[in-house]
Amino acid sequence: GETYPKPSSMRVIAVANQKGGVGKTTSVVNIASALAQEGARVLVIDMDPQGNASTAFDIEHSSGSPSVYDVLEGRLTISEVKQQCQDFPTLDVVPSTIDLSGAELEIAALEDRTMLLRESIDAYIEETDEQYDYIFIDCAPSLGLLVLNALCAAHEVMIPIQAEYYALEGLGQLMKTIGLVQASLNKDLIISTMLITMFDRRTILSQDVFDEVKNHYPDIVLNTTIPRSVKIAEAPSFSKPVVSYEPNGAGSISYREAALEIAKRSEQVLQTIASRKSGD
Ligand code: ADP
Ligand code: MG
Repeated sequence: GETYPKPSSMRVIAVANQKGGVGKTTSVVNIASALAQEGARVLVIDMDPQGNASTAFDIEHSSGSPSVYDVLEGRLTISEVKQQCQDFPTLDVVPSTIDLSGAELEIAALEDRTMLLRESIDAYIEETDEQYDYIFIDCAPSLGLLVLNALCAAHEVMIPIQAEYYALEGLGQLMKTIGLVQASLNKDLIISTMLITMFDRRTILSQDVFDEVKNHYPDIVLNTTIPRSVKIAEAPSFSKPVVSYEPNGAGSISYREAALEIAKRSEQVLQTIASRKSGD
């Protein structure tokens, strides 16, 4: 296959959509794995109390075990809670546990409540010589304080969009939230990527959704779409991403293709972020 270019500096990508079940976690897990399979150094931070990404990577995340919850509340560092993924030596995971569901209330009164994740990542990168190519932050299906922490820590947002009738409903709310973050908390943040998931070739609807999103956001939407596939859905129950569960299946191929597209767009994305930083 084609070689995946490595980004010239670290990309920090929050994967967000306040709708549940649109393929956020599945996309994080498989794109991160596909990039790691190609030798990229990747960190996945699970910011959803459900811990679905941790489950998919087969990472211990029972209540009380060291997790991103402890990191946000300052008890542990990312170095102390991250775990290396068994199947992918260049992929680390910061797990989440159900305890994280209490965090929003517990951090609400802190002055730096939206910056806790960013501060933890910065400290981790500074104190260790970890050199990630990509950090993916898997967000919970909400627009609450945990998601704000992800949007403040990230340089870019990737939005998975399910190819269904109501796909664009709720996107306005997400865009508004991202706009508010850009206006105050994280001025350099960009929406770099949209990915159409659960695409069904047999329906006109799927194609319509793709076309409509592509019309609205021509530079952001990946040309690769992720098909609806039983293998993608069942892979987590074997504690594997589909890219290793069924490497030659349609789901795998499309996620590897999406990862390649993301990798190839790196310099363009990094430049856009840099020009926001310099205020052009
Ligand atoms: P989110 O993180 O946005 O809530 P998930 O990634 O957990 O969404 O996906 C929701 C459900 O849909 C999961 O059961 C997952 O296995 C399934 N799923 C995700 N992507 C696909 C797909 N392309 N084809 C079939 N099922 C999928
Ligand atoms: Mg999820």
